[in-house]
Amino acid sequence: MQLLKDKINKEGVVKKGNVLKVDSFLNHQMDIAFLEEIGKEFKRRFADETITKILTIEASGIGIACITARYFQVPVLFAKKTQTKNIAGEVYTSKVESFTHNKVYDVIVSKQFLTADDRILIIDDFLANGKALIGLSDIVKQAGASLVGAGIVIEKGFQEGGRIIRNMGIRLESLAIVDAMDEKNGCTFRQ
Ligand code: 5GP
Repeated sequence: MQLLKDKINKEGVVKKGNVLKVDSFLNHQMDIAFLEEIGKEFKRRFADETITKILTIEASGIGIACITARYFQVPVLFAKKTQTKNIAGEVYTSKVESFTHNKVYDVIVSKQFLTADDRILIIDDFLANGKALIGLSDIVKQAGASLVGAGIVIEKGFQEGGRIIRNMGIRLESLAIVDAMDEKNGCTFRQ
């Protein structure tokens, strides 16, 4: 998606430790007109699919998922990160290792909101080593729901997540794939 690549080139900041900061439009301040274009693009790519619900993970996936959901006209369900499991009722749970915070979370989704009838599209901001996506797909599996695919705004193609997810047979649509990045030269994108 050229608009996204241009935005990353203009506003993205490459930090030490293979972290790309896009705080001016995606991860802190959110550019809503731009996110609407992201939502439209996910809808265009998954137009042939029946989707009943969008699943994401807190926190930074939520805004993107909500705007995308407007185009699919479905609810958004976000997995909560918890150490206390203090959610009412029964939950599906999976462990996710955070790339940016370097710790392991339990992520939970209430059984009430995810059932075997659901056809799920997972949406997230970044794909790095794939841990968040693997955890979410595990929760979909526990529910007996169908995983239609995953829509990622920025895939870091030099990390292993994309390969793992595609090898799992999951339909993965990444709007920009960064093949290399460094603090001096910024990002190189896959064509
Ligand atoms: P993974 O689970 O694929 O290793 O990492 C994906 C998660 O880590 C995303 O939900 C995202 O929040 C965070 N993340 C991974 N890499 C980056 C990055 O380069 N920049 C930012 N801002 N977040 C990242």
